Amino acid sequence: MPVADTKTEAPKKFTPYEAEAGEEYMNEQQLEHFRQILLGWKQELMEEVDRTVRHLQEEANNYADPADRATQEEGFSLELRTRDRERKLLKKINETLEKIDEEDYGFCEACGVEIGIRRLEARPTATLCVDCKTLAELKEKQLGG
Ligand SMILES: [Zn+2]
Repeated sequence: MPVADTKTEAPKKFTPYEAEAGEEYMNEQQLEHFRQILLGWKQELMEEVDRTVRHLQEEANNYADPADRATQEEGFSLELRTRDRERKLLKKINETLEKIDEEDYGFCEACGVEIGIRRLEARPTATLCVDCKTLAELKEKQLGG
């Protein structure tokens, strides 16, 4: 399994859900399992955002020299991009948590099939099944040239 080097990767620290035979897909227990994964991820991300903001503020105070400032600004835009990614991801996580509350979680938005517990554990914010995701990526590639 790849090591997550940024918090924008889904967390890997959880016990994989063991469904019992004949267990209903996305029953109360399963929804709770994913709620906990998402809440943990959200927590990690929010701490990360805090750190980035603090870091930006510290840096802003540290450099007076113009040459240093240029280097610093490069660092800034990188951090701002990271923050932007984190913000989008937080939004997505919140939307996903809402779907869990509405018990509308775990089914493909395009074709309606079950996305599957293992796939959702790897990508808790997934809204498409593997087939539809692959198709969407293919289309994207064709459009993008
Ligand atoms: Zn689908």
